Amino acid sequence: MKRVCIIGGGIAGLATAYYLQTRAQPDAQYTLLERAPTLGGKIVSARENGFVIEGGPDSFITYKPHALELCRELGLGKELLGTNDAARRVFVWSRGKLHPLPDGVMLILPTKIIPFLKSPLISWRGKLRMGMDLFIPRRENQDDESLAHFVRRRLGNEALDKIAEPMIAGIYVADAETLSLASTFPRFIEMENKYGGLLRGVFAQRRAQKHGAPPRANGNGNPQTPVSMFMTLRNGVQQLTDALIARLDANALWTNRRVVQVKRENDAYAVRMNDGAMLCADAVVFATPAYVTAELVREMDSELAAQLAQIRYVSSATVSLGFKRAEISHPLNGFGFVVPRSEKRNILACSWSSTKFNFRAPDEHVLLRAFIGGAHNEALAEQSESALIETARAELRALMGIKATPVLAQVYRWHKANPQYQVGHQAGIAAIQTRAAQHDNLYLVGSAYNGVGIPDCIADGMRVAQAIQSLLEHSMLKEELI
Ligand SMILES: Cc1cc2nc3c(=O)[nH]c(=O)nc-3n(C[C@H](O)[C@H](O)[C@H](O)COP(=O)(O)OP(=O)(O)OC[C@H]3O[C@@H](n4cnc5c(N)ncnc54)[C@H](O)[C@@H]3O)c2cc1C
Repeated sequence: MKRVCIIGGGIAGLATAYYLQTRAQPDAQYTLLERAPTLGGKIVSARENGFVIEGGPDSFITYKPHALELCRELGLGKELLGTNDAARRVFVWSRGKLHPLPDGVMLILPTKIIPFLKSPLISWRGKLRMGMDLFIPRRENQDDESLAHFVRRRLGNEALDKIAEPMIAGIYVADAETLSLASTFPRFIEMENKYGGLLRGVFAQRRAQKHGAPPRANGNGNPQTPVSMFMTLRNGVQQLTDALIARLDANALWTNRRVVQVKRENDAYAVRMNDGAMLCADAVVFATPAYVTAELVREMDSELAAQLAQIRYVSSATVSLGFKRAEISHPLNGFGFVVPRSEKRNILACSWSSTKFNFRAPDEHVLLRAFIGGAHNEALAEQSESALIETARAELRALMGIKATPVLAQVYRWHKANPQYQVGHQAGIAAIQTRAAQHDNLYLVGSAYNGVGIPDCIADGMRVAQAIQSLLEHSMLKEELI
């Protein structure tokens, strides 16, 4: 087993190629086939007139260390940038105003009582209901539930509407009513199981910290040098994929090659491309969206195809707008804002990119990035570029009072790009993995399965490269024995 074909050149496919090239002994021969003219998939950063514009991801989380470690391994350590934590604040649009999320709210949970009690974002009735979490018994049934069901059950409707749903929509572009809690926030399940509730969990953790429990280790495993919770790269996240591509064997990276079918022929895989060309491989790694993989394997295994096609994807769009600082009266004193669905606006969220990170806009300018579409408003994301710019401008006018004409406007449309981890996702993935394992040396990687973040996709690539490596060792051993 020597020839590996990787289909899809996003971060998951590139990471698989990188770990195969650098960790497999002896080197496995790989070929990566990418439909688009460029590699990197959803990771796209553009530089224009001193602005650094992110089309897809603008950062990665560091408590899952794979992206941070990979950046360092690729020599990008000095290029890493943390968020500007002095301005770490997120606002929520509610009742005609942007309200800061109370200090200490972590995703959905208040961790500091006084700022939370003082905040006008949640009514007194809503706050009392959230406090009831202390008295609500833990759930005995361990079946997966939706994030909305969980938050409503423990913290009440208002916490769901004003905090959890818009925060989560900003990350997963998803519907909280169908989003799987187990697949997205297993930590909350752990807190409920271990402490009997979320607030009890927060208090227990605070007590533990007071009594000297070490802070959570950073990506280095070294608690002494704290790193920011989110990091990016000075010239944008694409620096990571560019550095990966520079390390890979250029002859093995085939762009403008759309794979149309994968079949088993004798003991190998026959990978057919749109121009009729065929590649034979001993192992095949699908790093494509699940619905694409479904079509590629349909003839070989219709049941696997049907399982993969069950994973729903939704469309979204990002609109980056650059302005002269002097023309914006808003202080931009935070990372941006999110919009609850109940407000019925045409925007999901807006990052104040040049506050969140340095080096995002030239002097005397600012950069904002609006998110449009998602599970409840997909049609909006499918509008023309000019309509998307108009939508973003109209919303920023209404919500932030921005009337200025942007000096830069850049749209990225992401058609069926966001996989939805719906209730039962883990069971569905387990079934897919069982089915896929019936085919020798067939692997699935990418955001559809074990996490949508960049670190998850990198971890996936590493896992599969390791699996191929052990197969290689095994087959070499067999050859020696023969
Ligand atoms: C707007 C947006 C913002 C995001 N923000 C963040 C963030 O801040 N932090 C974070 O960690 N994550 C973020 N994500 C998620 C993250 O970017 C993605 O989950 C991740 O980049 C997906 O990588 P992938 O390799 O699985 O898929 P992709 O990047 O989609 O790569 C798949 C590749 O397969 C290729 N392909 C498709 N069909 C074929 C075919 N038939 N033949 C050959 N090639 C094919 C595609 O062209 C593509 O290049 C964001 C995503 C979006 C859309």
